[in-house]
Amino acid sequence: MIIVMKPTSTEKDICEISKALEQLGLGVHISKGTQRTIIGIIGDKSVLSDVPLELMPGVEKLVPIMESYKLAGKTFKPDPSVIDVGGVKIGGKELTIMAGPCAVENRDQIFAAAQAVKNSGAQFLRGGAFKPRTSPYSFQGLEEEGLKLLKEAAQAAGLKVISEVISEKTVEIAYQYVDMFQIGARNVQNFNLLREVGKAKKPVLYKRGPSTTVEEWLNGVEYIMSEGNYDVVLCERGIRTFETSTRNTLDVSAIPVIKSMSHLPIVVDPSHAAGKAQYVLPLSRASVAAGADGLIIEVHPNPRNALSDAAQQLTPEDFDILCKEISDIASLLGREFKYGNK
Ligand code: PEP
Ligand code: MN
Repeated sequence: MIIVMKPTSTEKDICEISKALEQLGLGVHISKGTQRTIIGIIGDKSVLSDVPLELMPGVEKLVPIMESYKLAGKTFKPDPSVIDVGGVKIGGKELTIMAGPCAVENRDQIFAAAQAVKNSGAQFLRGGAFKPRTSPYSFQGLEEEGLKLLKEAAQAAGLKVISEVISEKTVEIAYQYVDMFQIGARNVQNFNLLREVGKAKKPVLYKRGPSTTVEEWLNGVEYIMSEGNYDVVLCERGIRTFETSTRNTLDVSAIPVIKSMSHLPIVVDPSHAAGKAQYVLPLSRASVAAGADGLIIEVHPNPRNALSDAAQQLTPEDFDILCKEISDIASLLGREFKYGNK
């Protein structure tokens, strides 16, 4: 349930309602919109049966929420959220580009990648240190050593750091090295892990699973948000269909669908959707045109020698072309991306 406050309601009215709800053991989420304030009630509403909330000062109406994803849904917060990751804002006018190799492989590789993506205008360096691979015999990542290198390379280039966590233990380890946790497609319904990053109070990029519906995805994000972490960005990375010419099928429609159902920003990973470098640019164009708030792109100084996902990683040169094009498309759409090292 949400309480919609009158435009004339005061801070005191809001405070008194929050206090009354908290005394009943309920959680309170206050969303101050451009027009009015909305108070979201979290918890077992049965305790409210004898409480005439609608008669309290400043209350306009009570609205039941039908969706199970209350915190992520638009009823709760109609205005789009902007997630601030150490000064880089995701979901505002400016597009965010996260880029870097699939995995951190060695010092030279990650430093070269960091400088290259920075030169084209990316704001984040990505790189896996804990690699969930389809086969247990494939390269599994450099773990903590990889995170150290990732952070060093990002700091040297002036970039934020994003990296995937795959378990409670890796959340603990990664906490000191990353600005943003990534939850990978394979962990989309790993609810213990979702609760863990919810408690960790650091921004989270939450990928859609290859076989999750939008509704299941939003219910997953609710696990993170219900722990008190509202700094979440969704990431569409392709879903499994009958088509085999690409690794996955990029669900471009998920972008406007998410925008109609949720206030959270959405970025797109065309690299894992396509699985082939040649399709990354057209899918990036389509994503931005459809309203994505950013992109996460795999870039390797020498893709042919990559230890994982070699076929889909862009060279720094191709990534530079992509950034230039995205900057042009962004300005046509009334958005912005600062191409180049500014
Ligand atoms: C990744 O981004 O490195 C990755 C493994 O992607 P996904 O979880 O989308 O497969
Ligand atoms: Mn990869």
